[in-house]
Amino acid sequence: MADLIFKLPSSCAQDLTGQKFGRLTVIGFAGRRGKNRYWNCRCECGESPVVFGGNLKGCVTQSCGCLRREVAAKAATKHGLHGSKIHTSWNGMKNRCLNSKCEKFYCYGGRGITVDPKWLTFEGFYADMGASWKAGLELERIDNEGDYEPSNCRWATRREQLNNTRRTIWIEHKGERKTQSDWARQYGLSRKLVDSRRRQGRMVEMLFDPVKEPIQRRVP
Ligand SMILES: [Zn+2]
Repeated sequence: MADLIFKLPSSCAQDLTGQKFGRLTVIGFAGRRGKNRYWNCRCECGESPVVFGGNLKGCVTQSCGCLRREVAAKAATKHGLHGSKIHTSWNGMKNRCLNSKCEKFYCYGGRGITVDPKWLTFEGFYADMGASWKAGLELERIDNEGDYEPSNCRWATRREQLNNTRRTIWIEHKGERKTQSDWARQYGLSRKLVDSRRRQGRMVEMLFDPVKEPIQRRVP
């Protein structure tokens, strides 16, 4: 807020200093940008946000953001979800893909398998996967080499999940047998590209061609 003007115009009758809006107490005038006035506030949680006066008076902003976070957390707790199986599934997914200290990381995050950004919060994950969850089901990726994202996930029984694991695509190439994604990584290609080439019926030898064809240079 470098272009703020730090003087409350004397014509301004609306000094909000000392007033309380939800969890926020106005400490003093912070500055002005155009017609908008901003106020230094102190939140009950200890944070010191600068808030647009119009949002204070309109009750749009009532905390530094801690209130919204608590409401979201409470909503999840209300469903009895924290510490529940679905929450554990979500946590496990994040650990496998994002926590390099997780003992299974090398099979997931370590192989480039990622989590949809929306699923980084439990609320986001629950919005997509909550309705189809039932006790006893586990989170499964439909394409075993694909990412954790809405189009590639479903809830499955353990048996279904084991069957899916067997669906891993193995490719024999140059006398070696590796998974499709391991080959893709080796050649610096995306798994999706190799997969679509394979589905198009390309010969194994041509699955791993570089993306850009080498430029034909004319020898002078
Ligand atoms: Zn706060």
